[in-house]
Amino acid sequence: MSLELSTEAPEAPENAVDGMWLECIECGETFAPFEAVRYTCDDCDSLLEVRYSTLPTWDDFDGDGVWRYSAALPFDDAVSIPEGSTPLHYVPRLEKGVGVNRLRIKHEGMNPTGSFKDRGMTVGVTVARELGVDRLACASTGNTSAALAAYGSRAGLETLVLLPEGKVAAGKIAQAALHDARILEVDGNFDECLDIVQELAARGEAYLLNSLNPFRLEGQKTIGLEILEEFRQDHGRYPDRIVLPVGNAGNTAALYKAFRELVQAGALHPRDVPKLTGVQAEGAAPMVEAIENDADEVRRWEEVETKATAIRIGNPVNAPKALPGIRETNGTAVAVSDDAITSAQRALAKEGIGVEPASAASVAGLQKLANRGVVDEDEDVVCLTTGHLLKDPDAAFEAGNEPEPVPNDTDEVLSHLEGQSSGRGGILKRLLGR
Ligand SMILES: *Cc1c(COP(=O)(O)O)cnc(C)c1O
Ligand SMILES: [Zn+2]
Repeated sequence: MSLELSTEAPEAPENAVDGMWLECIECGETFAPFEAVRYTCDDCDSLLEVRYSTLPTWDDFDGDGVWRYSAALPFDDAVSIPEGSTPLHYVPRLEKGVGVNRLRIKHEGMNPTGSFKDRGMTVGVTVARELGVDRLACASTGNTSAALAAYGSRAGLETLVLLPEGKVAAGKIAQAALHDARILEVDGNFDECLDIVQELAARGEAYLLNSLNPFRLEGQKTIGLEILEEFRQDHGRYPDRIVLPVGNAGNTAALYKAFRELVQAGALHPRDVPKLTGVQAEGAAPMVEAIENDADEVRRWEEVETKATAIRIGNPVNAPKALPGIRETNGTAVAVSDDAITSAQRALAKEGIGVEPASAASVAGLQKLANRGVVDEDEDVVCLTTGHLLKDPDAAFEAGNEPEPVPNDTDEVLSHLEGQSSGRGGILKRLLGR
């Protein structure tokens, strides 16, 4: 990490409450955390960030899941299902195939509603409860709506979700429906849904829980904290690089914030900060464009398309927080084709790890960067897989094996198997003494 990064913990402004406040990332204006509903800066409309006057170190963490890290979060009592403590899988064959020193897969599909969005919602919905609002809303490519519906219901609050019609995977709509959200299908893309829901929030119709909401990113920091703790426990060091799919770039921003706070607390040396490496689909790659062109701002793509619907986003709202994260950690960003995403989804499935298409983008991106020599063969890498296979059953059917119809008869089943023999089964017959 470059030395531009401050290693000093910030001093609390007068409007801080219990050592916590909101601060504008552009103009530095500060606000009390819960005195009013506020998503962006009153003065310049830029993004806000939660700040703390005391930052925890590793010894301050205790327990399991997201709330193990309550010392790094705004509360210690929350609307929780619970979430976090997801597996960090070994994938020896994939590691060898990609050609890196170590490869681990942090599978966020193992959260309660099947995506990392739960980590943000446990904090965001707790803030909503604190503020005393009675209606929650989000725009979503699917997983945010599933998580918000579940956490909203858990908290006894009404939930509205705005979805781009025809572009949300079946499992995600099913979750939002059963967890009792009102589902508004918009004839438009995700970015347009977000425009509308921001308007609704500005008019006081609902509390906004997209990743524009700075409290959600606090919960998502815990992905980075879990990865660092577990990797160090297993390998005695931190990973060199973390590769993740990028949609609104909330996770990229959240992981960067987690690392910055650890550095400021003296818990992580700047040289040990992993390189944040973002992956987008070729048909929705405005962040990659900005990184490649060394641009200060991301250009909004009006037309986006990819089968990885979770990252079918043309206007990543957290770009002002995420671009510095990629740059300051010496990371990069890369775009991958839908075919490469499907191949990576199959490769993960072969290791027993079932993910939705957007999640596989991380592995596809790593493969591409390793082929190009951008990622070195000595590197220790963690790929984030963001959502579960069952989120998008249609994509799984398309990427997987065709079911083979067979007659209702053992001999005919046998002759079907022999007709298209895989050559397997010999060992079993010997073991059975046949
Ligand atoms: C939300 C989501 C993303 C995108 O994450 P950002 O933090 O918005 O970049 C990626 N994959 C899946 C499965 C998601 O649900
Ligand atoms: Zn401002």
